[in-house]
Amino acid sequence: MKNMKRVSIALLAIILSLSAVGCGDKNMEGVNTGKANKAGQEEVYDVVVIGAGGAGLSAAIEIKGAGASVVVLEKMAFIGGNTLISGGELNAPETWIQEKLGIEDSIDLYKEDTLKGGDHQADEKLVTVLANNARQAVEWLRDTVNVSFKEDYLMQFGGHSVPRAAYPQGGSGNELIGKLGAKAEEMNIPVRKQTKAEEILADKDGKVNGVRAVDKDGNEIIFKANKGVIVATGGFGANVEMRKQYNSEYDERYMETVQPSSTGDGIIMAQKLGAALVGMENIQTYPTCNPATGILSYVADTRFNGAVLINKEGNRFVEELERRDVISKAILAQTDGMGYLIWDTTIKNNSHMDDYMEEFNQLVAQGMLIKADTIEEVAQFFDINVEQLKQTIEKYNQYAVNGKDEDFNRRGEIIGLTEAPYYLQKVTPAIHHTMGGLKIDTEARVIDNEGNPIPGLFAAGEVTGGIHGTNRLGGNAITDIIVFGRIAAESVLK
Ligand SMILES: Cc1cc2nc3c(=O)[nH]c(=O)nc-3n(C[C@H](O)[C@H](O)[C@H](O)COP(=O)(O)OP(=O)(O)OC[C@H]3O[C@@H](n4cnc5c(N)ncnc54)[C@H](O)[C@@H]3O)c2cc1C
Repeated sequence: MKNMKRVSIALLAIILSLSAVGCGDKNMEGVNTGKANKAGQEEVYDVVVIGAGGAGLSAAIEIKGAGASVVVLEKMAFIGGNTLISGGELNAPETWIQEKLGIEDSIDLYKEDTLKGGDHQADEKLVTVLANNARQAVEWLRDTVNVSFKEDYLMQFGGHSVPRAAYPQGGSGNELIGKLGAKAEEMNIPVRKQTKAEEILADKDGKVNGVRAVDKDGNEIIFKANKGVIVATGGFGANVEMRKQYNSEYDERYMETVQPSSTGDGIIMAQKLGAALVGMENIQTYPTCNPATGILSYVADTRFNGAVLINKEGNRFVEELERRDVISKAILAQTDGMGYLIWDTTIKNNSHMDDYMEEFNQLVAQGMLIKADTIEEVAQFFDINVEQLKQTIEKYNQYAVNGKDEDFNRRGEIIGLTEAPYYLQKVTPAIHHTMGGLKIDTEARVIDNEGNPIPGLFAAGEVTGGIHGTNRLGGNAITDIIVFGRIAAESVLK
């Protein structure tokens, strides 16, 4: 079943890799296994970046922009990592879009939401850096990278006090990676696809000075780094053994929303140099995924625009804008471990559904989504208790009229479900994000087990830990990777 997901991701990625960076490899098949059969090649740069996702490409663009030489190593046949398949939405307070929409926000409020969202287990210094640099990160994407954002719309993910997530055109990381890739190409930054970093190298004094990698033909290449190495290899959500090593709950029973490349390579390589890890047990599930594949459902983002979450018995059971971990656990506690989202035409029209019609049609074909003229019909399709559901919706519609949800205190505007046709979608949680990783300081320097920076070693993005505490809020990962990708670039050149 998981193969369905791999096929669609691969297709998307092949198109991007051909159009975005270089002339594209002829051999587009799969991951480089890292097995070397020839040794000896050596290339020299100021900086070596491992991983061509959002963090790695942002760092590389800043490094080249500052006049230094840089190479990006990417083990897959395409660039983008999880950034490519993400929604691409990123939080920032006090943006031009908030100003246009008249939304009052502040750096302090964003910081407070983020710390609270992670149960106050995040490193406050890192969160302060995130909050202070978030607005500049979105502006950098807009002005330097040419990313195009919807000018009249912001998302409000769970746990955020106000709408603050900028929404790239198409509602997809495709816009981010397409533009980051194009910028890297325009700047002649070499991005070496199907080139897997196997080992981070250091001199006899422990200063990091290069990377040993293996290309798709099995040739070993030593990439020397005069100034340092930036690890931007993403998380470890697809590495079941590693998940179980740090948190036995997240075993084979869980499907994943992430790319198969999320295997924690950067964490394993840096650990060999004494890097400290933080928060490795904190693994996040995304509550509303396709039960057939584990793929994150963007159609189910109707939840942010008013859709109501119910169970097989026709009852609501959690606030729809709660944190991901809370909703995930609540869904798993329901009959068959499934939740059902119901919405009407008004909510559909508020939800940018045109961006997700391919997924919508797939869900219908898979029997995971039904559209019909009455609440009875949509409920019967999934064998949901019709009478109870009608009562639940009647009560909820009254809450919409009164402006207050008496059962779960839903935040934001409460929208009644009154306009046919209706939609009902079956959803379940899947592994989505690994909050733990390499310990870094505010300059993105990797910290060792004695609390000292490892000379020449920097990290940014999901490979790092400490920024999101026990739970990452929606839209905070993309902010994190751009903010710290850029900081890592600045630090390595100091
Ligand atoms: C479906 C989905 C939707 C999401 N939507 C959002 C959203 O809307 N907003 C938000 O804030 N967050 C979102 N996230 C989370 C966010 O996308 C990720 O946390 C973020 O993109 C990680 O970026 P990164 O640069 O750290 O890693 P990645 O983008 O994953 O890139 C890492 C790269 O490193 C490469 N690599 C790994 N090991 C090696 C090696 N040994 N040698 C060479 N290369 C290597 C990988 O192949 C990959 O290309 C979403 C995640 C998913 C899965």
